[in-house]
Amino acid sequence: MSARVLVVEDEKLVADMVRLNLEHAGFAVTWVDKGEEGLARAREGFDVIVLDWMLPGLDGIDVAKQLRREQVTTPVLMLTARGDLSSRVTGLDAGADDYLPKPFAMPELVARVRALARRAAPAAPVARASGRDIILSGWTVNRDTREARRQDGQGEPINLTETELSLLLFLVSHPGEVLSRADILETAWGMDRAPTERTVDNYVMRLRKLFETDPEHPRHFLTLRGAGYRFEP
Ligand code: CA
Repeated sequence: MSARVLVVEDEKLVADMVRLNLEHAGFAVTWVDKGEEGLARAREGFDVIVLDWMLPGLDGIDVAKQLRREQVTTPVLMLTARGDLSSRVTGLDAGADDYLPKPFAMPELVARVRALARRAAPAAPVARASGRDIILSGWTVNRDTREARRQDGQGEPINLTETELSLLLFLVSHPGEVLSRADILETAWGMDRAPTERTVDNYVMRLRKLFETDPEHPRHFLTLRGAGYRFEP
């Protein structure tokens, strides 16, 4: 599957050139010309975002800041005519990962996008937290409504409890890591309640029932004997 790039750029000529070159390099490109729309689309979970600084309305800095506030970790390449040092620092502080002053050579843009896509690759498996959504094999879980919906639109949405959601979020945010029951208790449960480690097991079983194709032979929510759990995307 080709990496998906979101291009947020209000100058059509620049956007066309960027799109053409990225597509030629094998990327799937979505182009929008407004910051507001860029912000909304960015939450869908792209591999890289090419973000122009100067946009009418919400500018690139606003968009980058808001994305980072929402914990969207998609790498951002900021484009701008302002090449001086202080604005570069502003861009990076806002959450941009890389910076390319205009005018730039297309091969350089493509190379930088490719580098960011490579960096993003481990963070874009079938399960990830993307903005307000948790994307999990075949499911999308909304963190605000705690509603889990199948991506194919089949069946009724399921409502997760607050604890189920925070456990899910914790596991999905630490893919491949060994998580002890104590780690999980500390993060997923508030200090006002003191459930036993057995409670963790029950909740993990519940997540398996919800999200595993075969809950008896889990592929994502794995038990590590004597150690705890590991989430595999
Ligand atoms: Ca612009």
